[in-house]
Amino acid sequence: MVVDKGDVFVISAPSGAGKTTIINKFMETHKNDFMLSVSVTTRPARTGEKHGTHYYFFSKEKFLEYIKKGKFIEYAKIINEYYGTLKETVKSSTASGRNLIMDIDVQGAKKIKKQIKKCVTVFMMPPSFEELTDRLTKRKTDSPEAVKKRLALAKKEMKQSGKYDFVIVNRDIDETVGLLEAILKLTKFKKYKV
Ligand code: 5GP
Repeated sequence: MVVDKGDVFVISAPSGAGKTTIINKFMETHKNDFMLSVSVTTRPARTGEKHGTHYYFFSKEKFLEYIKKGKFIEYAKIINEYYGTLKETVKSSTASGRNLIMDIDVQGAKKIKKQIKKCVTVFMMPPSFEELTDRLTKRKTDSPEAVKKRLALAKKEMKQSGKYDFVIVNRDIDETVGLLEAILKLTKFKKYKV
């Protein structure tokens, strides 16, 4: 991949927009150059999620202790649960010579943009709000009440998409992965402009 090592790419999307599928597909062919940031969360693990692979699952007490100790480069409270990126994670990706992909929310993206200059932010939109509603309802990982909250949050987040460097619409897996690759190439191109 023609990007510099040690860059940070932030990808945000409303829950249910298909971000995890896209990132996993992207990582299939780019794992030599990219490392996926594993966040810490206080939310319970969903079926199939593993500690250390999908998230580090912490108790609220432990999370708050880590905040106090200044261990997070950013963290946010999203629908009553905490999510955060450890400074250590960013350090280890730089040390491994790979680029880091961060799957974080709008609040986190803003904080990372302020702290890491070599950072490109991408917002992934669902094809439509109706489709997002449909996906969240069918996935059955959240209660109807939680789905309602996620949809309200999605609306708020989508309104802030203009603050990102790039906005893409996830209509088709291969197309979206292609768009992501194009953005990474463009970014490299941008850096060489004088
Ligand atoms: P989920 O509970 O569906 O896994 O994630 C909910 C939201 O938390 C998603 O928008 C995801 O991008 C965001 N998120 C995951 N990890 C982090 C993190 O470390 N920091 C921030 N700010 N948001 C995160």
